[in-house]
Amino acid sequence: MADQDTLHRRGLMFILSSPSGAGKTTISRMLLEADEEIRLSVSATTRPKRPGEIDGVHYHFVSDAEFDRMIEQDDFYEWAHVFDHRYGTPKGHIRAGLKDGQDFLFDIDWQGTQQLYQKDQQDVVRVFILPPSLDELHRRLTARATDSNDVIDSRMERARAEISHWDGYDYVVVNDDVNVCFGKVREILHAERMKRARQTGLIGFVRKLMD
Ligand code: 5GP
Repeated sequence: MADQDTLHRRGLMFILSSPSGAGKTTISRMLLEADEEIRLSVSATTRPKRPGEIDGVHYHFVSDAEFDRMIEQDDFYEWAHVFDHRYGTPKGHIRAGLKDGQDFLFDIDWQGTQQLYQKDQQDVVRVFILPPSLDELHRRLTARATDSNDVIDSRMERARAEISHWDGYDYVVVNDDVNVCFGKVREILHAERMKRARQTGLIGFVRKLMD
């Protein structure tokens, strides 16, 4: 007998956006570790690698010329200028994966979110993570110590701009406590998987049920 967890469903495109420093990277990592059904969509970027980052795992680090070529070849679902660099979501196996029930996690900004949503409203779930305050955001960016003061200032400015797009999301979660925030994000993912339109195996299941 089929149970609901084994029924076929379409995968979803789970987008997490936030100003940098609001905890999105930590939440993404926790989600990928805790949930085997979701895989990270690895973006391409022209920005230099930060210490600890691995090519092909955190990003595909590419040159400007390579990025241009990818645009020309229509390799991107979406791409955008963020800070002084370009970032894009390669199409890769995403379409086929979704059909097979594979979920993808997208760590992209509001511009990419809008573009993905315009292309595929059915599969996209948009989650925005807010910091508890701008003071706290500044403290977190400074504590991270990977960027210069100038970079931190421009990230703070950018954070205000990013936050102004909060209303383009389906869900908004404040990251006061990372574990609580993670729990909420996970609940959203679980609930979204249960949506009737995603559960393509449900028709047959209900038919059998009613026989
Ligand atoms: P970072 O350089 O700190 O890794 O990322 C800077 C910003 O770029 C973050 O807000 C991140 O969400 C965004 N970003 C990363 N990959 C993509 C992408 O493929 N498309 C878009 N539109 N934004 C991205």
